[in-house]
Amino acid sequence: MPNCTHCQKRQAIAFTTFECYCQGCALDIALILLKHCQLSENSINALVANGWNLPVSTSHHYSATNIAQELNCSAQKIGRTANRLGLKIEQYGEWRLDQAANSRKQIETFWYNAAGKQRLIELLQGNDQL
Ligand SMILES: [Zn+2]
Repeated sequence: MPNCTHCQKRQAIAFTTFECYCQGCALDIALILLKHCQLSENSINALVANGWNLPVSTSHHYSATNIAQELNCSAQKIGRTANRLGLKIEQYGEWRLDQAANSRKQIETFWYNAAGKQRLIELLQGNDQL
C-alpha cells in the first residue's frame, strides 16, 4: 500500500487520478471541497446520507412548481416573488439538492414548507402586481 501523497506519513486509503490520501487527509480534503461548494447544512446532510445509502427523513415540502400549479402561475413567478420578498428562509422551508433539468449537475433549490406555501398563496392570490 502506498503512503499518503499529502502528509506522506500514513497509509493511503483513498485514490484519485494523481494523489492518494490517508484517512485523515482524505477527510480534510473532502471537507475543504464541500465547503467550497457552499451548500446548506441540509444539502450536506442529504449528500452524506445519499453517499452511504442512509434514508433521509424529511417533512412534507413543496417545490415552486407544485405551488405554481396550485396558483395557476409559472414556477419562475414563485421563485421571483420569494426572492424579492425574502421568503427563502428557514421559517418557510429548506434548501435541497436536486438534479438540474436536462443535466447531471446537482443544484440547490428551495423547497417550501406548509407555512411558506401558505404565505406565497396569500401574497400571490389576486395580486397582479407581483
Ligand atoms: Zn495523509
